[in-house]
Amino acid sequence: MPATWGAMDSFGQDRAVERAIEKLKRAGLQPLAPSDVIAFSDIKRFEERWAADRKFRAAYPADPRRLGEAYGLRADPEIVRPVWDSANVERGEENPPPIFARYLAFNASLRTWRNQKIAGVIPRDMRFVRWRERQIHRLNLEVGVNVAANPHIPASFELSRGCSVGCWFCSSAPPKLGEVFRYTSANARLWRGMLEVIRNVAGSAAQASICYSGTDPFDNPDYEFFAADFAGIMGEHPNTSTAMPTRDIERTRRMIAVSPPRWLRFSVLSLGMLSKIHAAFSPEELLLVTVSPRNEGASGAQGMIFAGRAQQNVATYRKYRSDTLMNTPSCETGFMFNLVERTIKLASPCAPHEQWPLGFRVYDERRFETPEDVKWIVNEMMDCHMARKVSELPLLRFQSCLRFEPTPGGFALIGPHLRQRFEATREMPLMTKLGVMVQSGQYGAEKLISLIEQHGAARESVVDALDELFRLGVLDEGPWDGANAGAMISPTNDETTNVGETR
Ligand code: SF4
Repeated sequence: MPATWGAMDSFGQDRAVERAIEKLKRAGLQPLAPSDVIAFSDIKRFEERWAADRKFRAAYPADPRRLGEAYGLRADPEIVRPVWDSANVERGEENPPPIFARYLAFNASLRTWRNQKIAGVIPRDMRFVRWRERQIHRLNLEVGVNVAANPHIPASFELSRGCSVGCWFCSSAPPKLGEVFRYTSANARLWRGMLEVIRNVAGSAAQASICYSGTDPFDNPDYEFFAADFAGIMGEHPNTSTAMPTRDIERTRRMIAVSPPRWLRFSVLSLGMLSKIHAAFSPEELLLVTVSPRNEGASGAQGMIFAGRAQQNVATYRKYRSDTLMNTPSCETGFMFNLVERTIKLASPCAPHEQWPLGFRVYDERRFETPEDVKWIVNEMMDCHMARKVSELPLLRFQSCLRFEPTPGGFALIGPHLRQRFEATREMPLMTKLGVMVQSGQYGAEKLISLIEQHGAARESVVDALDELFRLGVLDEGPWDGANAGAMISPTNDETTNVGETR
């Protein structure tokens, strides 16, 4: 039987309740009544056990009170009946107890708050804005549209090489923990300079950046210093996700204190780990922390994405789901920095497949040493890869995930999840011809426009049609074979110096 949560006296509970209310206020959310903080925390804790523990789900309905007590769960079984009594839902008895209804509304308000923050992630630089919009359209064509929106954050900053946890499913498949980027005075100067560059390019959207990517932030003993600088420059503490919340409980407690509501996430790898979490932290302390079960038997384990190390552990993956979930594990539509290796990638999420098994495409990768390097490299990457006009693409062709189908009045593009039709209009009667020519992949924009003009279409109409295809993200934007992707250019060699001087 799992341990129950550590004893917290009424003073400790009062403090945790006050902190939760204070945090909601700081975030501009409607603060809760203290009694609701306690009641919601109890429901949430019940849901965490329910979501993670298959045996608990099987046993609880037969003897809710005894099981609840045995697991140290304070929630009244009648209040959480909508969770465990599926017959109740099937019978259409959908009027949940008032406290449970308020809890659902509270969770919905947190989701709305998060979604509004995601919707506000719009970079400052217009090249970046338009490129990001096209990448979002392109990703939707590849993996479909999700209810939980991908935030498409502008940057991530990796502060370690490798990860000490070694999850079998890790989409990033990092090596064992190696070097760590420490908070020395020289590194702190570099760090702050880089953050300023990204803030200038991405504006307030830079707040959505994260200070890890394919590693665990708690592997870096100085993570909190980096996060504090981030908060000072970006105006908000960064999102943090850790799979080691119980390794140093007081450290985690400090992270809970500074993280905005549900901005801190615990990845729960086993039931033993869930019990440890529940023993270490009171329900009130975790009301505004996301607890995300990743163990076998967890009800949400179906959401496990088939990328990175999961592709190397197919037999284990099959215990989670019988088919493969082709979503992207990546959320960076912009710059991926590795502070240990001093590299910058321009990347965007994609479905994991042979060419990009980690679920993101890399358009370019360069090395840097100083914040000035970062500034010109970021600009250079935007110049090289974020086309402003369709005519800047070396060739016109459709995204490889799309199947082209000519139709009598135009053409259709069929992706794994979406079908789009492009019909001829009075102004642009040659839509089928245009589609066939793009599909051939043989023409640049100028050549294609002049050929269609020769068939009688007005130049402006062809340009408009191509602009629309470009805006919708259905045209391939690379990375192009032989282009910069993967061609590492060091800022100390001549080629880089020349590139920098052209700016
Ligand atoms: S999922 Fe996170 S904690 Fe697990 S190996 Fe990957 S980076 Fe490390």
